[in-house]
Amino acid sequence: MTADLLLTGARVVDARRDLPDAWVRVHNGLIAEVGTGLAPRASERIDLGGATLTPGLIDLHVHGGGGHAFDDGTDAITAGVAAHRRHGTTATLVSLVSSPLDVLRRQLTHVAVARRSDPAILGVHLEGPCLSPARRGAHDPGALALPDGPVLDLVRDAEPGLVRQVTLAPELPGALDAITELTALGIRVAIGHTEADYALTREAIARGATLLTHALNAMPAIGHRLPGPVPAALEDDRVTLELILDGVHVHPAVARMLLTSAPRRVALITDAMAAAAHADGAYRLGELDVHVADGRALLDDGVTIAGSTLTLDRAVRAAIVDLGLAASDAVGAATSVPAAALGDPARGLLESGMRADLVAWDADWRVRKVWLSPSS
Ligand SMILES: [Zn+2]
Repeated sequence: MTADLLLTGARVVDARRDLPDAWVRVHNGLIAEVGTGLAPRASERIDLGGATLTPGLIDLHVHGGGGHAFDDGTDAITAGVAAHRRHGTTATLVSLVSSPLDVLRRQLTHVAVARRSDPAILGVHLEGPCLSPARRGAHDPGALALPDGPVLDLVRDAEPGLVRQVTLAPELPGALDAITELTALGIRVAIGHTEADYALTREAIARGATLLTHALNAMPAIGHRLPGPVPAALEDDRVTLELILDGVHVHPAVARMLLTSAPRRVALITDAMAAAAHADGAYRLGELDVHVADGRALLDDGVTIAGSTLTLDRAVRAAIVDLGLAASDAVGAATSVPAAALGDPARGLLESGMRADLVAWDADWRVRKVWLSPSS
């Protein structure tokens, strides 16, 4: 990206606007101005010919892609992040599944190294190991742990700012105190892989939890007498709900219900494993074997879903084309909503001062080009 770049002839869409025939001026990797009508001068000018321009997509929950699993070391992390970048994702929380603590410790250093050379890697989402055995999904049962000293030490000992998000089950002994402690460290706590009911979910939120990990998956369903965790999250403005919009994890009608009942608080995620943006076949997720056929990732039992093969551009397209959301709402769910959930003030909108992480899309919401700001 050159020092001064002008993108013209764009439909500019973010969570706050949908502007036809607009332009965006980028200076030193940051958005300098957005406007319509007469465009200013710039050293480099690109006419987008009517393409749609949005902020870069932000994925809070992804385990791999392009054939690479994020638990396989620094090179695999970099390659997997790059595979998702080709589909519009310019900011990634590298999600690590439950593993023995010495393995997680090693994996955290791998992400720390990868992050130094890739501004798209924001940090780590530890999905576990403090999860409910009964709702573990595709997490290795032998790796699950209680939220006590050793797990908290793992987080405290990590490079500062590396662990950004931790998913835990609030019903485990010590979990509510762990939420208080992690929140005090500036880490976002997500409720997930849990048996928590409505009341306990509210208590976890009161203790500081601000996310619901892949809402509706790996938790009690919504019942009219037993509401479970999802209504508790929906009714509280402090909480963001992750949603895997791949047509497999959540029925489109229920996905639409979530998106319309908590506008600006549902974050599209992929929860993708290595087969995303890659071929069907045999893969690993942590210590478990996964088989991918027709884009569905399942464990050996042939029933348990083991992540998705989604890319975030497909989720945005599904929200607009299949669910009928307004473009700015669908784009917001993959940009400003996750940015706000992370407390990231530099990403998620096309506004002056924001990072120039940009995606150009064609009329069918397919990614044409991606710009990643080199500034960190
Ligand atoms: Zn999960």
